[in-house]
Amino acid sequence: MSRAGGSRVVVVGASMAGMLAAAVKDVAGSVEIVEAHEVPERLGPRTGVPQAVHIHFLQTAGIEAVEALLPGTGDLLTAEGW
Ligand SMILES: Cc1cc2nc3c(=O)[nH]c(=O)nc-3n(C[C@H](O)[C@H](O)[C@H](O)COP(=O)(O)OP(=O)(O)OC[C@H]3O[C@@H](n4cnc5c(N)ncnc54)[C@H](O)[C@@H]3O)c2cc1C
Repeated sequence: MSRAGGSRVVVVGASMAGMLAAAVKDVAGSVEIVEAHEVPERLGPRTGVPQAVHIHFLQTAGIEAVEALLPGTGDLLTAEGW
């Protein structure tokens, strides 16, 4: 992956895709996340992500990909009861 130096990256949406995109911040000079809804302190359903109230599962390759960018996510989800 090439480095974008001092470029400014704007990520729209602070859900899974947005947070993973923002996690690659070392390729840019700065990353700004724009979220239309309030993001709660704790994990849980929220406005803007209506599918969050449904049961989800994360396959092994999925959590491995997430952990590569955001280490500790699996433990955090488990600790929060997800
Ligand atoms: C019923 C259901 C069940 C599912 N089950 C599974 C499952 O078991 N396993 C699985 O892996 N996937 C599952 N999915 C799919 C998964 O939920 C989605 O693929 C995933 O949530 C998409 O993540 P995302 O970050 O792209 O978007 P989202 O999670 O939809 O987040 C979008 C974000 O962008 C914000 N936003 C939207 N518009 C704007 C704007 N104009 N400006 C600023 N912010 C904005 C929203 O507020 C939100 O925070 C399921 C989906 C549904 C609907």
